Amino acid sequence: MAPRKMVGKVEYKENLAGNIWLVRICFDEEVGYIPGQYASIKVSEDGMRRSYSVASLPGGKSIDLLVDVSPMGVGSKFILSLKIGDAVEVLGFLGKFTVDSMLLLDAKQLLFVATGTGIAPFKPMIEDLLYKKHFMGEVRLIWGMRFEDDLYWLKELDNINRDFDNFKIDVVLSKPGPDWPGFKGHVGVVIDRLQQNWENNLNYLCGSPEMINETDKKLKEKGVPETKIFYEKFF
Ligand SMILES: Cc1cc2nc3c(=O)[nH]c(=O)nc-3n(C[C@H](O)[C@H](O)[C@H](O)COP(=O)(O)OP(=O)(O)OC[C@H]3O[C@@H](n4cnc5c(N)ncnc54)[C@H](O)[C@@H]3O)c2cc1C
Repeated sequence: MAPRKMVGKVEYKENLAGNIWLVRICFDEEVGYIPGQYASIKVSEDGMRRSYSVASLPGGKSIDLLVDVSPMGVGSKFILSLKIGDAVEVLGFLGKFTVDSMLLLDAKQLLFVATGTGIAPFKPMIEDLLYKKHFMGEVRLIWGMRFEDDLYWLKELDNINRDFDNFKIDVVLSKPGPDWPGFKGHVGVVIDRLQQNWENNLNYLCGSPEMINETDKKLKEKGVPETKIFYEKFF
């Protein structure tokens, strides 16, 4: 479907943790997009725009955006200023960071690697794969964050875990407190431990450009061809 300009209204807004906000924008009619796509939001009167991945499943009249406002630029300030009922101009939906159904036919394992709000497109992509497409192979999510206090959506991810034996999640903290029981460091720490058949997997990377460059290099060193690595850099 060709991207088009739409005007929605803020229906819900929640501070999930620290600088992370969830904003739900509701439209008059059902909106169509593929999990993994993003929306371009008008964030200033003079027409500046910022991109935000859609963090919810399609099929309804609303979209969720998951926004880290720590850069504190024009986009962050716009998101912080939004109140329930405010109008938002959305150009959507854009991008090719989606799971190709044809490639899924041969895939045995899917690896999703995120840092920070890079998890935004992954939640609907993973929910779509498991709940709707009934993908039977292994789906693994590695999520890199800094501190325990940065974490959110753990209950939602746990629910997916409960529903599907073939879904696994590893959270890696680069600056954990002394009691953190999980992985410490960067996402590469977990990737190096994976017992994957790197020939039959598909790899999706989303978040900071640094993480994506490092992970891309690591995967290629493991023999993963470029055609099986897909990424969305948040910059
Ligand atoms: C396809 C795409 C999808 C995206 N999806 C999301 C999403 O779902 N959630 C989300 O939070 N962001 C997402 N982003 C990033 C988002 O579009 C903005 O770039 C980001 O929110 C900063 O906008 P800003 O106007 O507040 O800051 P800007 O005015 O653009 O930048 C202010 C300062 O912060 C630095 N900066 C910019 N972005 C970041 C960052 N991500 N981390 C640290 N420093 C930064 C800049 O270099 C600059 O110095 C996405 C980007 C792309 C390209």
